[in-house]
Amino acid sequence: MNHARSHALFTRAQDLLPGGVNSPVRAFKSVGGEPFFAQRAEGAYLFDVDGNRYIDYVGSWGPMVAGHARPEVLAAVEKTMRDGLSFGVPNALEVEMAEALTHIVPSCEMVRMVNSGTEATLSAIRVARGVTGRTRIVKFEGCYHGHGDSFLVKAGSGVMTLGLPNSPGVPDALADLTTTIPYNDFEAASALFEEIGDEIAGLIIEPIVGNANCILPREGYLQHLRELCTRHGALLIFDEVMTGFRVALGGAQARYGITPDLSTFGKIIGGGMPVGAYGGKREYMSQVAPSGPIYQAGTLSGNPVAMAAGLATLALIREPGFHDELERRTHQLCDGLEAAAREANVAFHTTRAPGMFGLYFREGPVETFEDAKASDAAKFKHFFHGMLERGVYLAPSAFEAGFMSSAHGDAEIAHTVKAARSVFGDMG
Ligand code: PMP
Repeated sequence: MNHARSHALFTRAQDLLPGGVNSPVRAFKSVGGEPFFAQRAEGAYLFDVDGNRYIDYVGSWGPMVAGHARPEVLAAVEKTMRDGLSFGVPNALEVEMAEALTHIVPSCEMVRMVNSGTEATLSAIRVARGVTGRTRIVKFEGCYHGHGDSFLVKAGSGVMTLGLPNSPGVPDALADLTTTIPYNDFEAASALFEEIGDEIAGLIIEPIVGNANCILPREGYLQHLRELCTRHGALLIFDEVMTGFRVALGGAQARYGITPDLSTFGKIIGGGMPVGAYGGKREYMSQVAPSGPIYQAGTLSGNPVAMAAGLATLALIREPGFHDELERRTHQLCDGLEAAAREANVAFHTTRAPGMFGLYFREGPVETFEDAKASDAAKFKHFFHGMLERGVYLAPSAFEAGFMSSAHGDAEIAHTVKAARSVFGDMG
């Protein structure tokens, strides 16, 4: 593959942007080599500035669950933008979006739109602190909730990829208020709540972890956390920025039948535009300004073009059977990859949720962050580049989930498995 134009752009970018990028994992640091620069995208495919085509298993890190550049979404954006890009006064699409969200996610009786997942989680813990009058936040090792100060404590995603789980610039006084415990460890959660339960404002969790590769909750684990929070008066916050509208229309809370107090969203509800949201019980959300004293605001929040893109995407994924088909395709891909690895005698394991998967260069099962970290990083790197050369773009980090979309059909999956067979063949 020729990458001359991408290389030239990356050379220019490195002089001007930290690491040449506007978000760290894009720089390919952990896998080595250089990123390609996108020219356009369509369906399951990304096309780079040198004319190379890739089957895309990143999907802009989640938003493109219905495939790239869907005509329905683009048409909604075009129609809306002709009336102006931002008004700074309320618009009807914000109300439509709030109606859609509260309908799809019944635990959210009220919502507030923001511009990113980071803003959503920052705001959610402010609400948790504001309504409980407590200061301590609990999160899980390897979970990523955006780059807010309180979350850069033993975080996953890019911070883990780059070996920076605790970032300089986060004051100790604030980081000390974040307690981390291991995901899927029933005892650790019970012990922590036993010890300091009455200091905990909120516990925030990725109900399915997508930022430490992909780890599913053990049977009853989320229910256990629900009960602990209820008993100790702490708010349970589901960070569904990744899982929302993906693992089921109603997200992980619908899939596992858990009612969190607050939820955070992003990615899919913006359809590719910068959007996030947080919501929850009316008694909590009504304490947000201006109906209450907990302050949170945004010049571009509820942006009409972003709302239009999100609403058009939600319309696509509300089609009956959408998530069943996404789940079937995810299994088809993962079964194919596991079979190809077996043929080549490569120790390999996948984890799956509808539209999300984890790839591990080790035997299963993978149920904890320690299990996930034990994947062979050198083998992942080799696999990543082998697949890229064969026109398959996987997340450029062993600590990120892969994403499927409804545009990934038989042809794309067959191509992917064929490429994997060839790369595994070199590795065995
Ligand atoms: N929470 C989760 C679970 C995420 O996966 C992410 C981003 N990958 C965020 C929060 C932060 O979202 P954003 O990048 O839009 O700020």
